Amino acid sequence: MKQLILLTGVILLSCASTQKSIEFTPSTFANTITAAELKEHLNTYASDEFLGREAGTEGETLAINYLKSEYESIGVKGGMANGDYFMPMSLNVIREKRMIDCNNVLAFIEGSEKPEEVLVITAHLDHIGIEDGQINNGADDDGSGNVAILEIAEAFQEAVKQGHRPKRSILFLHVTGEEKGLLGSEYYTDNPIYPLENTVANLNIDMIGRIDNLHEDNPNYMYLIGSDILSQDLHDVSEAMNQKYINLDLDYRYNDPTTEVFELGRYRQNDYYYRSDHYNFAKNDVPVIFYFNGTHADYHAPTDTVEKIEYELLEKRTRLIFYTAWEIVNRDDRLRLKE
Ligand SMILES: [Zn+2]
Repeated sequence: MKQLILLTGVILLSCASTQKSIEFTPSTFANTITAAELKEHLNTYASDEFLGREAGTEGETLAINYLKSEYESIGVKGGMANGDYFMPMSLNVIREKRMIDCNNVLAFIEGSEKPEEVLVITAHLDHIGIEDGQINNGADDDGSGNVAILEIAEAFQEAVKQGHRPKRSILFLHVTGEEKGLLGSEYYTDNPIYPLENTVANLNIDMIGRIDNLHEDNPNYMYLIGSDILSQDLHDVSEAMNQKYINLDLDYRYNDPTTEVFELGRYRQNDYYYRSDHYNFAKNDVPVIFYFNGTHADYHAPTDTVEKIEYELLEKRTRLIFYTAWEIVNRDDRLRLKE
């Protein structure tokens, strides 16, 4: 008996020393972002129960409560000055000629060395609600972006628990009212909780769970828009992380405003740089990347549903955004703006 106890002690000791010698990499945490967990979140977030998540409706209330409870369960605190998760606002929806009351959701991980410098990761929490009695679940638009942020936050929080708190701070910002005209992100950048001068970049995720018809033969892709417009450093970091860890085909065609796009039955010039929430940061000189899979036949239709999501691809794309975020918050130098 005694001998056995001694032997167990030796084995335990040798395990501990082996573990210490394994070199730490961000992949330890990127690997916690999984297709299975993304799917589990999305099956709730883009279910009929959430009523299409229209800003200012009961569907939005369900969505923001879900996001808050997920952050509470992983131990990431609220991002408002008093620690709350909700940023309440009254918005004037000009095209509907009415005011609505709604909320952004903010969660925050404070940096260890430069806490005042903040990376903001965004997705719009709202969608278009119920039309003609049919619920628009918005699994891709933008359920995919919200569940990606939840998984990225969980990966960073796991790093914190293991003693690898990011050097800079990270704000996980789920904005409302995007579908009514980028209103929640505009409200945030007009009333920032963290000064925009110290907001080092915005990574905006809007539709990353599908494959468009231009890529049926090469699904290993993602469109990146804006990465080199305000900061070459941001573009270079993004490219380097992709080459080192992920190897997606990064498609920049929509970074060129003259590229045409076929949408809702006709060709027109793409204006994607202006069409999602990153633009409200870009117009304030915050460097941005907009991550996007392109449109599809189910865009803004009740058929944008969870079973059409490509979860392995969603995992890969989410991991790339995590690695890019990791580098931005942990590198020695802040991203520089172009002259
Ligand atoms: Zn969207």
